[in-house]
Amino acid sequence: MNAAGKTGAGDLVGNLDIRHELNAALGPLTWYGVGGAAEVLAHPGDAHQLSALLRACHESAVPIHVLGRGANLLVADSGVRGVVVQLNAKPFGAIRFEGDDVIAGGGADLAKVIMSCVRRGLAGLEGLAGVPASVGGALRMNAGGHHATISGALVGLVSMDATGRTRELARQDVGFEYRSSDLTDPIIVEARFALSADDPALLRKRVKSIFRDKKASQPLQESSAGCAFKNPPAAVSDRPAGRLIDEAGLKGFRIGGAEVSTQHANFVVVHSDGTADDVLHVMAHVQRAVRERFGVDLEREVVVWGQS
Ligand SMILES: Cc1cc2nc3c(=O)[nH]c(=O)nc-3n(C[C@H](O)[C@H](O)[C@H](O)COP(=O)(O)OP(=O)(O)OC[C@H]3O[C@@H](n4cnc5c(N)ncnc54)[C@H](O)[C@@H]3O)c2cc1C
Repeated sequence: MNAAGKTGAGDLVGNLDIRHELNAALGPLTWYGVGGAAEVLAHPGDAHQLSALLRACHESAVPIHVLGRGANLLVADSGVRGVVVQLNAKPFGAIRFEGDDVIAGGGADLAKVIMSCVRRGLAGLEGLAGVPASVGGALRMNAGGHHATISGALVGLVSMDATGRTRELARQDVGFEYRSSDLTDPIIVEARFALSADDPALLRKRVKSIFRDKKASQPLQESSAGCAFKNPPAAVSDRPAGRLIDEAGLKGFRIGGAEVSTQHANFVVVHSDGTADDVLHVMAHVQRAVRERFGVDLEREVVVWGQS
């Protein structure tokens, strides 16, 4: 118990006998590689433990965050209060097939899901090749690009609400928009996608060609979280965020160890001497400069945890 008579996040997880670490560095678990620690990083072993954890956090008003592959995430240098949940136990990464459908756990690696489908000659998700993600993170963000969007093949999902109750939702029960979903439950536990039979060799070729395009246009050797900003709606600007940033002369703009990529203006990359604060300052400068130059408000695509 703490001074206020409340159970601390560490005690709470410890009492549930769930594997966890206290004061766990989150940077190494994200693509940015920077940022502070989680008060508690919990690894529930199955849906039963996850449910108990959510319920206990809810009852004690302990904040909870779920971490996927950390590919769209910036953790503030001050870290994150409460419990960060990582769905890296085996049951959450399961991938199985029923007819032409694939059913994947919320913690499953999207690349693994895609390649399992390609090997079986099932088309529908291969357009998401090169998007680093867990299945849950990809659905939360409605990840996608020129070739596909993850919600396009979705049939339905199983989520868990803040009290630990599971719900089955059909595709039409969830509002998906460009790089967002309106799912209110904190955790996606499983999802089902409808695919169609196709030639595995052709699918493999498609995946390779998408990877080639991405390598040519994105700074994949540097630490980033992909596109920093969403493209503005067509009614606001006919140019994507990257073009606006480029035309504002911001490629190579640097604060501390963070910089607007010289290869792709919508990527804010961080160097080994950089901090989360540097990234946030660069992003804020970009938003200011684009607003002043074009009157367009860029909305951040990267999720930020723990920013005061
Ligand atoms: C090099 C690079 C290229 C990229 N290219 C693309 C691209 O082409 N298209 C694109 O859309 N994105 C792209 N991204 C961004 C990123 O890959 C996607 O946003 C992806 O969906 C993030 O998934 P994640 O599992 O890493 O989620 P995280 O970054 O870990 O989390 C993102 C959000 O999802 C939530 N979340 C995570 N898991 C779950 C779950 N199980 N249930 C509920 N919520 C959850 C988190 O709480 C957080 O709010 C790129 C990123 C990088 C680094």
